[in-house]
Amino acid sequence: MSQLRPARGTHDLLGEELLRHRHVAATGREIARRYGYGEIATPIFEFTEVFQRTLGETSDIVTKEMYTFEDRGGDRLTLRPENTASVVRAVISGGLAQELPQKFFYYGPMFRYERPQKGRLRQFHQIGVELIGSSEPMADVEVIALGAHILEALGVLPQTVLELNTLGDRESRQAYREVLVRYLEDHKDRLSRDSLARLERNPMRILDSKDEGDRAVVAEAPLLHDYLNQASRDFFARVQEGLAQLGVAFQLSPRLVRGLDYYTHTAFEFTTTALGAQGAVMAGGRYDGLMREMGGPDVPGVGWAAGVERLAMLLPEAPAQPRPVAIVPIGPEAEAEAWRLADKLRRAGIAVDLAFKGKPGQRMKRADRIGARFAVSIGSDELARGVVKLRDLDSGAEEELSQEALPARLAG
Ligand code: ATP
Ligand code: MG
Repeated sequence: MSQLRPARGTHDLLGEELLRHRHVAATGREIARRYGYGEIATPIFEFTEVFQRTLGETSDIVTKEMYTFEDRGGDRLTLRPENTASVVRAVISGGLAQELPQKFFYYGPMFRYERPQKGRLRQFHQIGVELIGSSEPMADVEVIALGAHILEALGVLPQTVLELNTLGDRESRQAYREVLVRYLEDHKDRLSRDSLARLERNPMRILDSKDEGDRAVVAEAPLLHDYLNQASRDFFARVQEGLAQLGVAFQLSPRLVRGLDYYTHTAFEFTTTALGAQGAVMAGGRYDGLMREMGGPDVPGVGWAAGVERLAMLLPEAPAQPRPVAIVPIGPEAEAEAWRLADKLRRAGIAVDLAFKGKPGQRMKRADRIGARFAVSIGSDELARGVVKLRDLDSGAEEELSQEALPARLAG
């Protein structure tokens, strides 16, 4: 074995970190359920085209970040870098667009070949929702409110700001595009090589560039907002009204755009300053052109995705975990009874630790080390009388009780 480390940008999850991770996923799933979003789990890999066509040939994800390979049968496959394209693909291939709207929640690993740093991994996880088949502004409002609700339930909402913008409809974007290209052409000498390539194919994406030189140019670029047509303005106004009605606080960010090709109208991001450079925790928007772009019917959609690792780091405290009970047999004759008792308690839903060997003193130490709530000891005297000794490991108090009374006492 040459490499006994996890591959760069990947991570083993266990202990408290895994608890945090699971808590984020479970909370997301539960809140989404209350809004009528059922879970969908799409495959971890898809035909490369699913992502290539939809994310755009010039996007960072497609040009630099995808894990793409040819399998033994010669198919070109890609580990999913994000899940919206997969969910839309699933709606098309499952014929689900017959009955709309469809609402989905998902959770799972995503893969991007990135430079790993805090909050930026090559295998990371997302929770996300997709609402497919409604072009009403209230659909955008529901999706954003659901996201805010999840952040609130996790206790992280106060550490975030909701930034909101609109990219307008196709017509508005087209009008803006011309103005933007003219502006960028004038500042060509200051643009990065990547952005020069984007200038012809997708100039809007330059607005989302992370390159510092690009950002300086973008900071002075004309604003899309000034080129929105009336329909796009109305739509955006209704989204803002809906959010205000539901008490979802937001701030307008006229320079917020999404890095992918398929977005229209609403774009938003919950960001935080608590995670250093990796400030985006939940990001999404409306993607009305996506399904048609993939070769399906012309069905609109809106959704978001959130980074589970980033949310897990923001959790104010580690989720509580039920503490186990340690059984400590004293002397060899109590050993078999200890195993029987452990079995009984486990079947009653109680977590039980029983060491395979060791003196009573060593076993009591182990009980402390694993954070047991109680130690239940059985010696020959207890054995003869059908009782056990229960020690509260927090207070040190001891009591004797019958084996029958034990499950109720431990559950309470
Ligand atoms: P960033 O600007 O941080 O690169 P992004 O725009 O690429 O984010 P999206 O594609 O919108 O991110 O994904 C949604 C969310 O998934 C992000 O807001 C972030 O919380 C999380 N995320 C994205 N890439 C990574 C990664 N490599 N590692 C961990 N989390 C990630
Ligand atoms: Mg990225």
